[in-house]
Amino acid sequence: MADTTLMSIPGQVDPVPVARDITPREDGRVDLIGLPKADIAALFKGAGLDKRQARLRAKQVFHWLYHRGVTEFEAMSDIAKTMRPWLTERFVIGRPDVVEAQHSTDGTRKWLLRTADGHEFEMVFIPDADRGTLCVSSQVGCTLNCTFCHTGTMRLVRNLTPGEIVGQVMLARDALGEWPKGKMDFAEVEDEAEYTADGRLLTNIVMMGMGEPLYNFDNVRDALRLVMDGDGLALSKRRITLSTSGVVPAMERCGEEIGVNLAVSLHAVTKEIRDEIVPINRKYGLEELLQACADYPGASNARRITFEYVMLKDKNDSDDHARELVRLLKQYKLPAKVNLIPFNPWPGANYECSTPERIRTFSNIVFEGGISAPVRTPRGRDIDAACGQLKTAAEKKSRAQLDREAAVAAQAG
Ligand code: SAH
Ligand code: SF4
Repeated sequence: MADTTLMSIPGQVDPVPVARDITPREDGRVDLIGLPKADIAALFKGAGLDKRQARLRAKQVFHWLYHRGVTEFEAMSDIAKTMRPWLTERFVIGRPDVVEAQHSTDGTRKWLLRTADGHEFEMVFIPDADRGTLCVSSQVGCTLNCTFCHTGTMRLVRNLTPGEIVGQVMLARDALGEWPKGKMDFAEVEDEAEYTADGRLLTNIVMMGMGEPLYNFDNVRDALRLVMDGDGLALSKRRITLSTSGVVPAMERCGEEIGVNLAVSLHAVTKEIRDEIVPINRKYGLEELLQACADYPGASNARRITFEYVMLKDKNDSDDHARELVRLLKQYKLPAKVNLIPFNPWPGANYECSTPERIRTFSNIVFEGGISAPVRTPRGRDIDAACGQLKTAAEKKSRAQLDREAAVAAQAG
């Protein structure tokens, strides 16, 4: 498989090059998951169909793949029986491999997943009374090193492809049994608006799993377009939130080209503390970040920007910090809400969570400043599924050990 090896972290804040585009599997077949309609049509044309046929078939296949969630060409009932083996010989409908699925006592579910070339990453599903949120990863590991984040301690990183990103949502729908059922009428479905979230388990998506989504911009955008496409997974952009640690140059593009809700991992209100705990701040400082938030396309009082703030004892949790937070958000006239996240511990972390009283006082000060500041209830802590706890076991091997294993595998092959 071309160009999909793990990479050493190139530097604190450098993006990781895109892993691969269309790479055939070992048997020569191409995985269609992650491809938009036009690319599927181009592949069909390349495999011998004339232009009109290729476009028509791509349209049908696209619908079956992303809207109906089928995993076999044989199930595509409006495609001629003779055509289905032609597809099966050349293409596959992939899903990330599930290595392990865990259930928390609070209902949260975590899946350890593996890419076709053997890299592990995680996704988490958080059910609530009125919604169900899937927390999706954008990278294996993260190049940034926020000091309170377990994922940030992973040394090795690769970008997930559009197929591996949209594949997480598809896998969740498989697991929850939530693909639209019933007889398909193609003409009818064409005009179908996004289907309703009523009664569904999976209603929202947050790009808050492993990785910095804006350092894998193109793949995240392409994957989310498939998620938002009315003939694809058909989830409204209003139900999708992308969280960034503050990759300022990509924020405007995010609003324009993806258009989802924005969450910003602020976590500190002074240069000194943010430089320390969210080191990307040394490259894109607080003023620049808040200005980019003020300019975020689509933000309004109806669609507020969420500012995430992890509560670290004696680090960023004083009354003065709370007041400064209110001042800054007002200075930039931001349509803001603040999400206070109690710090989730992990082995070797150098922080403690602020006390419940401290968190309450902090929250009250922000509320009194006129900004909503709910405290997020940690979910799935017992299975290490809570914010910032994601880190796969495979990574704990050293780089040298991985190189040795790769050498042995290459010799064996
Ligand atoms: N890289 C992106 C998205 C993934 S992190 C980002 O940083 O925004 C999702 C959220 O969890 C971020 O706000 C992150 O700062 C927060 N987080 C990380 N580690 C945490 C921990 N140990 N406890 C609580 N929240 C944490
Ligand atoms: Fe990366 Fe986000 Fe963790 Fe920071 S908080 S290390 S940006 S995943």
